[in-house]
Amino acid sequence: YFTDQSIQLQKPFSVSGDTFHHLVRVMRAKENEEAEFVAANHQVFLGKIQRIAEKSAEVLPTKQLKHVVELPIEVTIACGLSKGEKSETIVQKGTEMGARHFIFLPTEFSVAKWPTAKVARKIERLQKVAVGAAEQSHRAYIPTISYCSSLKELVQWPGKFKIVAYEESAKQGEHTQLHRQITNMRPNDEALALFGPEGGLSTSEIGTLTDAGFVSVGLGPRILRAETAPLYFLTAISVFTEM
Ligand code: SAM
Repeated sequence: YFTDQSIQLQKPFSVSGDTFHHLVRVMRAKENEEAEFVAANHQVFLGKIQRIAEKSAEVLPTKQLKHVVELPIEVTIACGLSKGEKSETIVQKGTEMGARHFIFLPTEFSVAKWPTAKVARKIERLQKVAVGAAEQSHRAYIPTISYCSSLKELVQWPGKFKIVAYEESAKQGEHTQLHRQITNMRPNDEALALFGPEGGLSTSEIGTLTDAGFVSVGLGPRILRAETAPLYFLTAISVFTEM
């Protein structure tokens, strides 16, 4: 359960609001049971629920848990806007797979649009999906969700590894480029990977991206759906950096 507390061993703290609701009303936690709590600084503690009141619960932190659940690389998944529930699937599954940030943006072949008036509500909804998935996967971070209004803005991203998944690269047999990129990554490096919507990315968008230093990579010889491609990428990061 995520808290915004600074947690210290053997110092009771109180949970309220959404965390209390999830802990007590949804998960039906009872007094004297133990659960995992994430402090504001992302440290994870085992806590004993000492007392449950109407709107809050008192928790005694009994042990700090040191197992590492976060990917060693801080991964940002950027996706062209896709139709329907695909953005929710990407956030839910991508959070389980360890992504730290999600950026959604309109691209040339995006059929879906996020009207300005609805952006805040969409982000709020996706942020809730991220919280649920982060709790389910015992993540120490809730991934951030943001909207970027254009590719021109996205290419300003300051991190070290900038990657675009492009199926034409896969067709040209450049499967090894992804592996090459990942094996150059070191713990705490930041990597952003962009994925197109259902209709893919245009050649002019690929040009803009490669001019800005993005490396085009293939994700194997099969064409993956827009919501599957980021998971392939995150799996590869996990396999090659967490072993
Ligand atoms: N334009 C393609 C088509 O209609 O056949 C499909 C685009 S695919 C559904 C959506 C996105 O997933 C692509 O823009 C790309 O970023 C990524 N993608 C899917 N399969 C890929 C692969 N084999 N290699 C690299 N990227 C892939």
